[in-house]
Amino acid sequence: MPIQSFNFEVTRVCNGRCVYCDIWKTPNQQNEISIYQIRKGLQPLRFLEKTRVIGLTGGEPALRKDIIELAMILKTVCPNAQFSMVSNGLATERILSVMTELRRVDKNVTISISIDGLEETDSLLRGDPTHFQKAWKTVHALRAKGFSVCIGSMVTPKNIDELERLSDECVAHGIKHILMVVNKSRHYYANHNNTELQALQQIDTVKLKKIIKKINQNYHHYYLPKYLRNPRQMFPCFSGFTSFFLNAVGNVYPCIHLDHCLGNITQQTLGEVWNSDYAQQIRYSIVKKYCHCYTPCETQGWLMANIFPKIIRGLAVKLGD
Ligand code: SF4
Ligand code: SF4
Repeated sequence: MPIQSFNFEVTRVCNGRCVYCDIWKTPNQQNEISIYQIRKGLQPLRFLEKTRVIGLTGGEPALRKDIIELAMILKTVCPNAQFSMVSNGLATERILSVMTELRRVDKNVTISISIDGLEETDSLLRGDPTHFQKAWKTVHALRAKGFSVCIGSMVTPKNIDELERLSDECVAHGIKHILMVVNKSRHYYANHNNTELQALQQIDTVKLKKIIKKINQNYHHYYLPKYLRNPRQMFPCFSGFTSFFLNAVGNVYPCIHLDHCLGNITQQTLGEVWNSDYAQQIRYSIVKKYCHCYTPCETQGWLMANIFPKIIRGLAVKLGD
């Protein structure tokens, strides 16, 4: 099966201090995979020639100094891919400059800025009293330059009552609003020992369902309350089949949640990693639904890549009831 998308953690360096994520505590900048290693590791090229989406994530991806050179390499390997960057929105000028340069590499590049509620709550969850103002400043600056921007919010008991207002604000500015829930991930968020997580995951699903119906922004949202009531793999997942997660040191995982490293592209090629017996075993476990999660970058990936979006939208409305 051709690879349709992948998420690439371009750096673990982060200027954010979010309470539910510990990436910023483990930056590991020295071992970041180099451009040369990426070019060499993403072989054979036929593996990636049909890739449609590359998610640039971090840390704060805009803080990687050679992100533009990196994007240029990725574009030569995946000529049909669209870049989609996730940012905390803190470093307005740097983000603007990176996005402007990225647009030269991919004219359709999009960006998601994280904002977790109204000012006080956002400051609390993002661990920074300046985040709210700076992130909105970045959103407006990007919009003024004609970029496609969306806002991503982690749903928690602390901000659930503010999501409608935040969503109204997004609508007023013509911005898409994406809801997510706090997930645990040892190899990505490094938050497996985070003592705040459990309380932040206790979401009132009845309330959330009502909010989602009012917001009505994204078919991805419709399954969320159902998943939270009974966490399981609700649909066949194709992570590890048509998508993967590449971390900042070159490790390949099926996704940002499943902590099974398939190999490292500084030591093998992607083709060797992908075709290994171990990768096959992990795929078997995914097919058997031994794992589950709910995040836009994974669920939307397989929805978009594998099932006709129109059918899914119809199903979503029914199943959400
Ligand atoms: S969630 Fe993102 S912005 Fe926040 S600390 Fe983690 S990597 Fe940084
Ligand atoms: S269900 Fe979730 S955790 Fe399991 S492979 Fe798919 S994306 Fe990863």
